[in-house]
Amino acid sequence: MIPRNRRIIDPAAIESNMRLIRSSVPATVRVLAVVKADGYGHGAVETAHAAIAGGADMLAVAAVSEGIQLREAGITAPVLVLGAVTACDAANGVKYDLIQTVCSDEMVLLCEKAAAEQQKQTEVHLKVDTGMGRIGIRSEAERDGILQALKSCSHVRLTGVFTHFSDADGEEEGMLYTREQYERFLKMIEPLPKGIIRHCCNSAAIHRFPEMALDMVRAGISLYGYPPVPGTHGLLPCMSWKATISYVKELEADAYVSYGRTYRSPHPIRTATITCGYADGYHRAGGEKGYVLIHGKKAKIIGRICMDQMIADISGIENVQPGDEAVLLGTSGNESITAEDLAAWAGTISYEILCSSSGRVGRIYKEAEQERRK
Ligand SMILES: *Cc1c(COP(=O)(O)O)cnc(C)c1O
Repeated sequence: MIPRNRRIIDPAAIESNMRLIRSSVPATVRVLAVVKADGYGHGAVETAHAAIAGGADMLAVAAVSEGIQLREAGITAPVLVLGAVTACDAANGVKYDLIQTVCSDEMVLLCEKAAAEQQKQTEVHLKVDTGMGRIGIRSEAERDGILQALKSCSHVRLTGVFTHFSDADGEEEGMLYTREQYERFLKMIEPLPKGIIRHCCNSAAIHRFPEMALDMVRAGISLYGYPPVPGTHGLLPCMSWKATISYVKELEADAYVSYGRTYRSPHPIRTATITCGYADGYHRAGGEKGYVLIHGKKAKIIGRICMDQMIADISGIENVQPGDEAVLLGTSGNESITAEDLAAWAGTISYEILCSSSGRVGRIYKEAEQERRK
């Protein structure tokens, strides 16, 4: 059964994006595919398979639980956990052969203890805070403490070091700040053992600062087809989102629509009620400015977005029937709505639009959707 409210994912587009990213960095530079947050809403396992097919060398998740999901699906590629290792997750990180992130000597010892108990070797990457102000070491003293702790460990191996840019997609000032972060990073990693993987670029930096690629780059949003900065060409969006029209009716002039009576019809109109609301992940704040696509035409959303439904003005659109499809994200005829459009309406960013689908929304993969149309 095809869900009445569904996000449709195109794994071939994910693979194509990875190929494009892969070809934009030197062959000696590894490419890591960021599949945290369930692959930015695209499905972590399916995204991982597509990214590996497109040439990804490594995967990254935010938490150990996400790494376990990949391992249980049979994925054997190296997986880096971007969040700092925690006492409750360290053992599972080791057990599932995840590369964990450390930023204190205590964290190194947590990994050592877990690995020793399991009689295994485990890998860690060191996180450096060069100006994001989130996790990571900031001082050379902390770094030296960690190097010291590592010397006392026989089960933990340091195989990488990384930092994260906070403003690589920013204007002129952001670009200056990114260069400062990069310089701080180089200085901090100077005394580290040679041969470990040094990485700092997210999607925006991959495009803007190719000279900072070092040994590996980390692609997130660009993998999903959204240009991190203007002027990135050839990326394909990988997600569309469709719901179903459940009801069509005529409303007289001066009729109120939805909660709070914020909308009143200026003249007689025809409306469609659509099976999608904020509990499905449609941002309530986006309703006022937004539209959906029905039969290839724009239909303005009127009144407030409800928990489970929304209402659109279909006055100019012929032959709309209950059961017809309403496109919330994606293409219909010559019109399309991007995650950036939805983000602009809701006052957020494309990232949040992609990963904000709720459990009630079905996720299907492109082949299945095409199957349905036959
Ligand atoms: C999420 C994340 C990324 C990916 O960022 P994009 O802007 O989506 O490319 C890279 N590195 C770290 C540490 C992250 O948390």
